[in-house]
Amino acid sequence: MSLPPNSDRPRRGGRPGGPRRPPPRQVEVVDVRPLTPRTVAVVFAGESLAGFAEPAPTAHIKLFLPDSEGNVARPVAGPDGRLEWPDGRPTMRTYTPRRFDAGAGTLEVWFVLHGDGPAARWAARAEPGCRAAIGGPGGRFSVDPAAASWWIGGDESALPAIATLLEALPDDVTGQVHLEAEGAEDRIGLPAPAGVEVTWHDRAGEPGAALVDALRRAGLGDDTHVWIACEASAVRTARSYLLDDRMLPRPQVTTRGYWRVGEADHPDHDFGED
Ligand SMILES: Cc1cc2nc3c(=O)[nH]c(=O)nc-3n(C[C@H](O)[C@H](O)[C@H](O)COP(=O)(O)OP(=O)(O)OC[C@H]3O[C@@H](n4cnc5c(N)ncnc54)[C@H](O)[C@@H]3O)c2cc1C
Repeated sequence: MSLPPNSDRPRRGGRPGGPRRPPPRQVEVVDVRPLTPRTVAVVFAGESLAGFAEPAPTAHIKLFLPDSEGNVARPVAGPDGRLEWPDGRPTMRTYTPRRFDAGAGTLEVWFVLHGDGPAARWAARAEPGCRAAIGGPGGRFSVDPAAASWWIGGDESALPAIATLLEALPDDVTGQVHLEAEGAEDRIGLPAPAGVEVTWHDRAGEPGAALVDALRRAGLGDDTHVWIACEASAVRTARSYLLDDRMLPRPQVTTRGYWRVGEADHPDHDFGED
């Protein structure tokens, strides 16, 4: 099966039998900056970040959290080359590499402090010197150079991905970005090409409902490319609306469930296609 050029679905057959994942990189927090009352930027550094691949737009990393003592488990290569965790597999969550600075050897990640989750709790307490480990980057979404018109939507968890996507768009594209956040104090300025209008929505009702509402009112051309990431149920509503009601061609629609109400550790490969 050949994948469309902007697909970031995992390649089938890449594993097992293919190349094994390298061990996660051991990193240390060197800076923490609150961006809003509910979002914090954490900057990681470490010699092991040398060789970290320049992430594609909307790429993801795996964050391995330390134990209660602050120690990060290290894997060993098993007999078949797969990673094994003699001390138990650490808690792992998916995040977006917001900014990788190869010269400085730093990686910035934005965490939503949504409350009750190990990663959100860790980020709320993170300070320079805290240790973690990072796997990836994964995801190979690339901007279709022929895509001149965009409709982009997401919630707080997708702001870093949307920022990387906006930075990757050619200067002359036109479009709309719709962002949903809990309240006005949760908004973060994003860099957008001059022809792209950014609109913020306060959360109203279910997570993602304001985005779906904005989508239903959107003027979408036949050539509009859509990228949406937010709560998984809202993503499904948005996707079926785009494909079934608006009849947008499938290759122009990228939808990503980034988290799901009531579910811990939502998978990183939820494209909302079920
Ligand atoms: C490809 C990808 C990229 C992502 N990039 C980022 C990123 O850059 N920054 C970021 O903050 N998140 C990002 N996420 C989302 C992040 O992985 C999830 O929010 C994750 O669940 C957080 O882990 P946790 O340990 O804090 O909570 P979990 O233990 O996973 O969940 C605990 C509870 O918290 C709820 N919950 C989880 N996330 C949220 C949320 N955002 N808002 C409200 N409730 C929530 C769950 O429904 C669950 O009930 C990304 C997800 C994917 C798939």
